[in-house]
Amino acid sequence: MKLSQLCRHLCFGLLPGAFALGMCAMPGQAAGKIKIVTATSDLAALAQEVGGDRVDVESIAKGYQDPHFVEAKPSYLLKLRRADLLVVVGLQLEIGWLPPLITQSGNSRIQVSGPGYLDASQFAEILEKPTGEVTRAQGDVHPYGNPHYWLDPENGRRVARGIADKLVELRSSDAAYFNQNFDSFSQLLTEASKKWLAEMEPYRGRKVITYHRSWPNFLKFFGLVTMGEIEPRPGIPPTPSHTLDLINMMKREHVSVILVEPYFDPKTPQSIARETGAQAVIMPPSVGGEKEITDYFKLFDYDLGLLIKAFQATK
Ligand SMILES: [Zn+2]
Repeated sequence: MKLSQLCRHLCFGLLPGAFALGMCAMPGQAAGKIKIVTATSDLAALAQEVGGDRVDVESIAKGYQDPHFVEAKPSYLLKLRRADLLVVVGLQLEIGWLPPLITQSGNSRIQVSGPGYLDASQFAEILEKPTGEVTRAQGDVHPYGNPHYWLDPENGRRVARGIADKLVELRSSDAAYFNQNFDSFSQLLTEASKKWLAEMEPYRGRKVITYHRSWPNFLKFFGLVTMGEIEPRPGIPPTPSHTLDLINMMKREHVSVILVEPYFDPKTPQSIARETGAQAVIMPPSVGGEKEITDYFKLFDYDLGLLIKAFQATK
C-alpha cells in the first residue's frame, strides 16, 4: 500500500484522533492533486507542463482579458481558499485586483510570505527596470520593470523551472516526476525555439509599434525593433497629438506593422493603419487569447503566424 493510500485509509477508516491527524498532516506527502491557482493563463500553461496529472491548475485571468484589470468574482475566492499554491506574474501586474483576493481568501498558505505563494518574476529576465525615481507621471503601470516577460520562450523555460522547484518543495515524493516533466518541456521548447527563430530570420530588424508595452521580451527574442506605443504612457489611452506624432514617425521610418492586444479598442490602431498603409495585427499576448491557443507552444505558433503574414504583406 502506498503511503497516500495508507493515509486515506487511516483517516477515513480506523484511527480517529491525534494519530490520524498527525499522519495526514505530514508535509509533502498529502494525497490528491496539488491545487494550483495562477494569476494568468500563461503561468497556468507552464504549471500544467511541469505538474502534469499530479496538479489541478486554474487561472484567474482568462487569456483574452487584460491582465492589468481583472474583475474579481466571488468564485475566485473559493478557488484561492482551497489552493495549495498561488503563482503570480508579479512586478505589480496584478496590483489592481489580486491583493484583496489573497487577503480575503483567508488561506495562510498563499499569503505573500506563505509557502504556497510564488512570484514568477524572480526567475525571469526582466527588461525596463527603472533606474531613477518612479512617479505617477510615467504612467499607471510597470514601475518595477516590464511584467510581460512570459513572451520570451527563455523566460517561459526559467519560470517552468521555478514552478517545478516549488512543486518539489511542496511534495518531495513526486520530485522525479516534476523534474522529468520539466526536462521534457525544456527539450520541446528548445526544438520549437529553433523553428520559430528560423521562421523569423527573414524579418529580423523589422520595425513595429505596439499598443501597450506588452512585447519588449518578445521583440528582443525575435530580433524585432519597437518604435513606440499607441499609449502615450503605459496605461494611458491614446491622445490625438501623440497619435499624430506616431503617424509621422511611422511614415519617416517605414514602420509597417502595429501589434494590438485584443482587449484594447482597435479604433486608433485602425486609423493609424489607414493613414500609414501599415497593418494592424490583433495579436493575443496570452494562452487562451484565441480558442486554438491551448498551450504555451501554440501561443508562439499563433502569434508568429500572424506576424509573418503581416510582414509579407508589407515588404
Ligand atoms: Zn503592461
